[in-house]
Amino acid sequence: MLERLEEQRHYVRAGAEHNANVNEVAYGGAYASVGKDFAFSAERFRETFALTLTTSDEERCVFELEGCSPAFANAFRRIILSEVPTMAIEKVFVVNNTSVVADEVFAHRLGLVPIKADPAMFEYRGEGDAANETNTIVLKMHVRCHKERNPDGTLGEVVNRSVYSNALTWCPEGSQLPEENGAKYSDFKRSQKEVVGDQELGCVHDDILLVKLAPGQEVELECHCVKGIGQEHAKWSPVGTCWYKMVPEITILEPITGADADEFMKKCANFSETHKCYACEGKGDKKTVKVVESRGCDFCVERVRELTGEPGWADKIAVRKRKDHFIFTIETIGQMAPGTIFKEAVKILASKAQNVLSTL
Ligand SMILES: [Zn+2]
Repeated sequence: MLERLEEQRHYVRAGAEHNANVNEVAYGGAYASVGKDFAFSAERFRETFALTLTTSDEERCVFELEGCSPAFANAFRRIILSEVPTMAIEKVFVVNNTSVVADEVFAHRLGLVPIKADPAMFEYRGEGDAANETNTIVLKMHVRCHKERNPDGTLGEVVNRSVYSNALTWCPEGSQLPEENGAKYSDFKRSQKEVVGDQELGCVHDDILLVKLAPGQEVELECHCVKGIGQEHAKWSPVGTCWYKMVPEITILEPITGADADEFMKKCANFSETHKCYACEGKGDKKTVKVVESRGCDFCVERVRELTGEPGWADKIAVRKRKDHFIFTIETIGQMAPGTIFKEAVKILASKAQNVLSTL
């Protein structure tokens, strides 16, 4: 196939002013005039698709998705952000709050605290459902700021000036608030410990500052956490964020030699001693730029892209980005491992596809 069409099909050209070839050609017959059929085929997808893990730890992972359409990468991104469920505080019953933070502001703040619980062990709580051990986690907090009394009767240090998330403690037996008008705040049939096994539920982080108190101020409340998805409120999103970028490729179109090589190295390569994405071979007029790291790095890709906007450079070097190869990053907020979140997203996408198939 014509080289120009190949480039159009596989790459976005990142220019100084604008990007070119940004569309994905999904229509199989788009290249019929040159005798090619690129209609989607599951067999070809199986052959070309690859997922390679680059780095991974408890809260962050980076991997490469290859051989799939940007629509897939974006579907995973959107599902991870807004459709993978977690547990979060949904209701706050304030018994006493004499702090300077208003009840509703405090409740909103509590909602955003990441809750350590496996959402797979819980059910969604429907409208009108009673809070029970399989759909609600109850956390309580009772903190009073006061001055300690020394043995000699004088007042000493102020305690509980800052209230952190470790003040929220799990109540596996359900709500501890007294009945009101004959109604209970929860209806636990058994201890939640039987549901979650040996897991200890609570907050992911113990050191999130929730409120500051002055001596004499007090906060007493109970929080009910339920299962939900980020589409309804960002507090249920399992990630801080997740994103992908197309793999960049720095391509030399015409040899860059002599004075041009010096200019290129000065503008795009020699800004740091440790930068090794490019090298020069030969001396004087024979000096030629070689690309050592075709993906470039965060520091040079932009420099090269800007250089292509200067007179004469657009024909010599190009920054292109693969349309079917992505570097995907997931940064969690600690409830679930990034790998688990991605697997959940795959399951959700598969069930959506199944839904479409069953209704066709
Ligand atoms: Zn670089």
